[in-house]
Amino acid sequence: MRIGNGWDLHRLAEGRPLVLGGVTIPSPRGELAHSDGDVLVHAIIDALLGATCNGDIGSHYPDTDSRYADISSMALLKDTMNHLGTASIENIDCIVVLDEPKLRPFIDEIRTRLADAMHLPVSRISIKAKTSEQTASGVITAQAVVLLD
Ligand code: MG
Repeated sequence: MRIGNGWDLHRLAEGRPLVLGGVTIPSPRGELAHSDGDVLVHAIIDALLGATCNGDIGSHYPDTDSRYADISSMALLKDTMNHLGTASIENIDCIVVLDEPKLRPFIDEIRTRLADAMHLPVSRISIKAKTSEQTASGVITAQAVVLLD
């Protein structure tokens, strides 16, 4: 067994799409980023790369590389799956911290989208949404822990 953890943060900016797990969530603000800024997928990618001791998201998909400008992070996640070798994902547990909008109505769609991208049953993906209690309303953060078998 191998365990990996990932964490990411992006600033929120007016007029940017809010993308989480490949799902665009209605919101006046979204992640400011070189890619689509999908903070949840970025945390999962780093957890997967960490579990396989395979560097980090910045070393594989640098934000200085124009190939990754505005790219869907789901495409990067699918590519990351190629680094797992013979290992399989036992489960993934995630936390997203965001004050607004509330994420609960979108959690199941996000889980389904992530499960499809990683060829996993939805039952192996957990996503919890929390707020910062208005202490960090200008950012969105995500954390992911993955267990490989
Ligand atoms: Mg990121």
